[in-house]
Amino acid sequence: MGKVLVIGAGGVGTVVVQKMAALTQIFEEITLASRTKSKCDKIAEKIGNNRIKTAQIDADNVYELKVLINRVKPDLVVNVALPYQDLTIMDACLETKVSYMDTANYEPRDEAKFEYKWQWAYQEKFKNAGITAILGCGFDPGVTSIFTAYAAKHHFDEIHYLDIVDCNAGDHGKAFATNFNPEINIREVSQNGKYWENGKWITTKPHEIHKPLTYPEIGEKESYLIYHEELESLVKNFPTLKRARFWMTFGEEYLTHLRVIQNIGMAGIEPVNYKGAEVVPIEFLKYVLPNPGDLGENYKGWTSIGCRVKGVKNGKEKTYYIYNNCSHQQAYKETGTQAVSYTTGVPCMIGAIMYLKKIWKKPGVFNVEEFNPDPFMEELNNHGLPWNEKHDIDLEL
Ligand code: NDP
Repeated sequence: MGKVLVIGAGGVGTVVVQKMAALTQIFEEITLASRTKSKCDKIAEKIGNNRIKTAQIDADNVYELKVLINRVKPDLVVNVALPYQDLTIMDACLETKVSYMDTANYEPRDEAKFEYKWQWAYQEKFKNAGITAILGCGFDPGVTSIFTAYAAKHHFDEIHYLDIVDCNAGDHGKAFATNFNPEINIREVSQNGKYWENGKWITTKPHEIHKPLTYPEIGEKESYLIYHEELESLVKNFPTLKRARFWMTFGEEYLTHLRVIQNIGMAGIEPVNYKGAEVVPIEFLKYVLPNPGDLGENYKGWTSIGCRVKGVKNGKEKTYYIYNNCSHQQAYKETGTQAVSYTTGVPCMIGAIMYLKKIWKKPGVFNVEEFNPDPFMEELNNHGLPWNEKHDIDLEL
């Protein structure tokens, strides 16, 4: 039994607290805090039974965070606000000696560049304070990292080639929308591609490398090599990897819109002066694009995210594919959100179970693949994200 403070009342936060609320034996007390308290209240009201307490917080402000943490006295702070808030929340956790968990690595607001170096720099401080930081506990990063750890533990003596494949074969009926926070999403998918090969990073132009890949129960989808944050920690934690890449599917329509958004300057992160007000184009864009949290109602189809691994077992080459398929409609029926929020929120809730049950509890800062994957994998099957395995197949890569 434990107390949690969840920060961020967006699509992911909605799933996290709903899933937690159902587990009364584990989550004794849940507080949901966010910049706009009315959003927390709406979520709490929908869940009912006074299960969720709510609070207003500016998570960019360490002092405010400290006051809130000292008032709530949680065992764990779960950060599902934006990556910009990672360091302020980690600072507040350090000062109040409370453990921390998130789903996305820190990214400075004024530079579209996510890296773990800022959060890994807290390693000694967290260790000395005797608290845990669990980094990247969504689906990717998160489940993909745990799938890799599970593959390495159970099916290989050495893993050599890793391809993380992320397919969203859903249709929300809009000409253009992002599946999670538009600002973060567009910053992520429009940057250069990057992958690991033979001990170094190779950079590509955005979407330069692509090929059709076949996804289970879905079929063939054009998949684009992009840089994704879990690659950075996975190549460090699995040094036998000769190559590690990340592929994501995009439709032609999505890419055309993205190109136009970039070409006309709407993806810009530098402020422009508009009628005397400083406006950051991508922040403004967020306000005119569909709210990802509202896509669920008409979203049909599936996501399919997994890891394709090649390596050696008992002196023989082996291939392995582990994946989860998640239905947008099923996710909506259960939580009122689409599958991207669902596939992020469920693993985040399971990460909190791992911490509260003291299975993933040690002083320091850790990426999820550094913990025992087995109990987490078991919970995925129990909480709506069952996984499938294929052995010795053509990985197409
Ligand atoms: P949303 O934009 O829907 O929600 C973000 C929430 O954080 C909003 O409620 C927002 O408040 C709140 N927030 C933003 N800034 C502050 C602040 N300074 N203080 C307090 N609250 C703040 O995002 P999502 O729910 O889609 O995503 C949440 C996180 O999950 C992101 O970090 C995203 O990168 C990550 N993610 C991870 C994935 C994974 O698989 N690992 C996949 C998808 C997302 P307000 O409503 O007032 O703006």
